[in-house]
Amino acid sequence: MIPENLERIREEIVHSAAKAGRSPKDIKLVAVSKRFPVDIILKAFHAGQRLFGENYIQEVTHKREELPPEAKFHFIGHLQSNKAKVAAQSCAMIETVDRLKLAKILNTYLGKSEKKLQILVQVNIGNEPQKSGVLPEDTEELLTQLQVLANLDVRGLMTMPPFETNPELSRPHFSRLRQLLERLKSKGFFKTQENPELSMGMSNDFKVAIEEGATIVRVGTAIFGNRPPL
Ligand SMILES: *Cc1c(COP(=O)(O)O)cnc(C)c1O
Repeated sequence: MIPENLERIREEIVHSAAKAGRSPKDIKLVAVSKRFPVDIILKAFHAGQRLFGENYIQEVTHKREELPPEAKFHFIGHLQSNKAKVAAQSCAMIETVDRLKLAKILNTYLGKSEKKLQILVQVNIGNEPQKSGVLPEDTEELLTQLQVLANLDVRGLMTMPPFETNPELSRPHFSRLRQLLERLKSKGFFKTQENPELSMGMSNDFKVAIEEGATIVRVGTAIFGNRPPL
């Protein structure tokens, strides 16, 4: 079932990209494997999936040991400062940097290695008090502060908009994140990249997110089914 789900989602990505006049090559699928055991993740790996999303560092370190080295992980959960070092070691990208303190810790740790760490800045696009992410109006200030942290490679923005059952209701949030990215780009941020990343869209709304410019979609349930409880 997992190979068929992946195949269907890849087709839907191609279709949504075409609808928006975009190339499907500009869209990366992160298979959100949080809470699923290694044997399940391997089914996706054997169906060609290489990029996985996790929200607990302990799970990443464990799964990295068990899976082939070609499997790469994006961290998509709230990252505590005391887990930053392990996250920098074990993840290909941290999608959820939302405060200077965390960025500084990541940068300091990496200063001792050769590696440059890819990160995204997580934006709380719906201004929800209970959610992580920098507020849209504070994003430029945070990006300015990140510019001096030489070991961080800031690739773009990520968001998790307010939950909606109707994906059309997420569209204005996706559109606002794209506009924010474009505004920041015109101010000189993300200079080294032709297409800075926009990580937005999950199982129920990734098609709308692609129409609105997503370059990374994070899909869990539609690939793996309902997650086992914590
Ligand atoms: C769990 C999670 C997802 C995947 O959600 P699904 O609805 O299962 O596709 C995507 N992004 C983040 C940040 C998540 O925590």
